[in-house]
This record gives sequence, C-alpha cells and structure tokens, in this order.
Amino acid sequence: MPSSSRYYAHAFHDSLPDGRSFGELHVTPTGFQFRGATGSVDIPFRGTELRLGGSGNRLVFISNPALPGWSVYTDDLKLVTDPLLAQQPELATALSAMRRKRAGGWVLAAVIALLVLGLPIALLFNVDIFAGIAARRIPPSWEEGLGKRVFAQYEIGAQMIEDDKLLAQLKKLTDPLEQEIRDPRYPFRFHIAKNSTINAFALPGGYVVINSELILQARTADELLGVLGHEMSHVTEQHGLRAVITSAGVLLIAQVMLGDVVGLAATLGSAAPLLLNQSYSRGFEEQADKRGVELLQRAGIDPLGMVRFFELVQAEEKKRQEKIRKTAGDRTADLMEGASKFLSTHPATAKRIERIRRLAGKQHGPYRNLDAEFLVLQAQVREVVAQNKESGEQENEDKN
Ligand SMILES: [Zn+2]
Repeated sequence: MPSSSRYYAHAFHDSLPDGRSFGELHVTPTGFQFRGATGSVDIPFRGTELRLGGSGNRLVFISNPALPGWSVYTDDLKLVTDPLLAQQPELATALSAMRRKRAGGWVLAAVIALLVLGLPIALLFNVDIFAGIAARRIPPSWEEGLGKRVFAQYEIGAQMIEDDKLLAQLKKLTDPLEQEIRDPRYPFRFHIAKNSTINAFALPGGYVVINSELILQARTADELLGVLGHEMSHVTEQHGLRAVITSAGVLLIAQVMLGDVVGLAATLGSAAPLLLNQSYSRGFEEQADKRGVELLQRAGIDPLGMVRFFELVQAEEKKRQEKIRKTAGDRTADLMEGASKFLSTHPATAKRIERIRRLAGKQHGPYRNLDAEFLVLQAQVREVVAQNKESGEQENEDKN
C-alpha cells in the first residue's frame, strides 16, 4: 500500500549483505515498509518500538520484537510528525516521548548556540570585563613569568641600580604598602633605574621600576609612595595582563574563560613592546587611583602625597616648557611636551586631582612619617647618579 511520505533510511539485519541496506521507509496505515537496494522488511505498528538515538538524538530507530534482529533508522525527523503515525494509539506514548526529547535537545542546542555566538558578541561589547575575568583564571606563576620576561627585555636597554644597601633602604619604604596588599598573588619586586625622566611603571607579576629622577624630584616619602601605591594597584588589578589579553582578541579571551590558557602562551611571549609602551585606559587609571588611595590609607600613608607630587611635576613641567619657549620658540616647546613620562601617561588634570582628593577625604590620618627613611634613600640615589655622571657614562635614554 502506498504511503503519504517516504523517508530515506537504513536497515540492519544479519540476512542483509554486509548486514545493512540503504533505502526508503514508507509509512502505511498498518505499519512501516522498508524498501532497500538489497533487502526489504515490513514492520507492523503492533508491538513496534520507536526511540531516538545517535549523537544529539538526531536519528529515529524502529524495531519490533516480532522481527528479531531487524532495526531500521532514519535521520529524517519529520517521521516523528507523520500524520499516519499520529493515528496509531499504540505509538502515541513513544512519539510524545520523542517530541519531548527533541524539545529538550532544542533547548540544549539553543544554549550551545548562545554560548558559541553570544560569548564573542558579549566579549566585543564588554572586552574589559571579560579580560578581567580571564586574567583571574591565569595562574599566578604565568603572570609572574610574563613580568619576568618583559622586565628582562627592559633591563637590556636600561641601567639598573643594583645596590643592595640602596634597595634595602627602598624596601623600608615599600614594605608598609606591600604588607597591606590583600590576597597577594606574588611578591612585589622594586627596582631603581638610573634615568633622568620622571617615571615609574609596573609590570605583571609585581615588577615595579622607579626611575632615579622620580626619587630625586620627590620631596617627601608620601610623594614617592603615592606614585608607588598607584603603580602597585595597576599590578594587583592586573591591568597589564588585561591589556595583553584584550590585545590578543576576543577568541583568545573566550578560550581562557573556558579554561584553556595554552593559546595565551604565544601572546604573552610577545607582550613586551605592549607592556613597556603602555599607557592605560582612563578606566584603568581611575581604578589604580582609587585602589592606590585605599592601599595608602590602609598602610597609614597620606594619599594626598600623590596629588602633591602630581602638582609639583606639573609645575616643574610648565616652568621647563616656558624656558624652552623663551629660548627656542613654540614649535620646540610642543616637541618637548611630555618629557616627563609619568605626567604624559598620568595627566594631572584638575578633575583627576579633585577625584583623588575626594577619595582621600573619606579618611584622615594619623599618617606615619617615613621622611627620614626617604631622605636617606634620596641621598643614596643622588650619590649613585652623581658617581655615574663623573665617570662620564652616558645616561640611558628610556623609551618609557
Ligand atoms: Zn597609572
């Protein structure tokens, strides 16, 4: 008897050559008819078992205990809604179970599609947030390794002051800050570079470089520590790592979020230029200001030292540019703009200073006075830099 629909299907039975046959499945008012190239079988509805199977339940299997060894399947899921099948009361239970299973399958498929398509879309719009989540998934040892490699590259073109006495003195000043770092992922490593540019910067994994000129220009311990509190906050908030992850692209972030950090290795390997020429987004800068103030206050150090240092550097910069303008004209002054690297990456705008003041205003002293320790450090640095000038060694031009 002809059927309303036909479905491509496979039949399995030991009597078939190779145990299987490909052909068409017809639904008739009394049962299924399989007509294959090398064999045929009629399966009556009575006693027929229908079930979904295969990967993702994309196949319908038909069998009947009355026909031992026979199994027919089709990947044409329209079979489930065939009108002739719907008229068979004994198949009703199996059919509705299959429809429920398919519906469940669709929910799963929709969830997977959302993840596959939605994650990159979400990432495109919230890269910073997702990079932050991804950064937290990176093992601390990786982050530390990244900082170590980038610092090693920086050192090649820099003149570091490797004086134990001097670094021990610096440690006296930085220790109160480090002790207040909550949930440290790694220890901080403070280095001083012989460099006439006012600057300090931090790398992932706790590497902090302070230029000698910054120490020489600062007037008090809280001015120096204000800058360091800010830089240390870039580290604890993983801003460098997040910038690297963001630059690596959306797909890589997705991989890291899904627990696969191997793909990141290549990116981390080439991160040095990015990290060493980093100027952070305004969002990161504001966060580092905020966390920096909190850190300084926990450590009992006046957070307004940072503001005072900004203002000092800004005033010095203005004076310097005036001088250049007078002697060489406006063009040169423009060219010389940003000679203080720290000021160029951390513009001391009125808004910023106002914000830091507001943050700092939430809590007032008493603050510790580390000026005696600071002045010893400053004298030591001045001595090393002076020795250096006497010996006629060329000062290293720092690109930072
Ligand atoms: Zn900063």
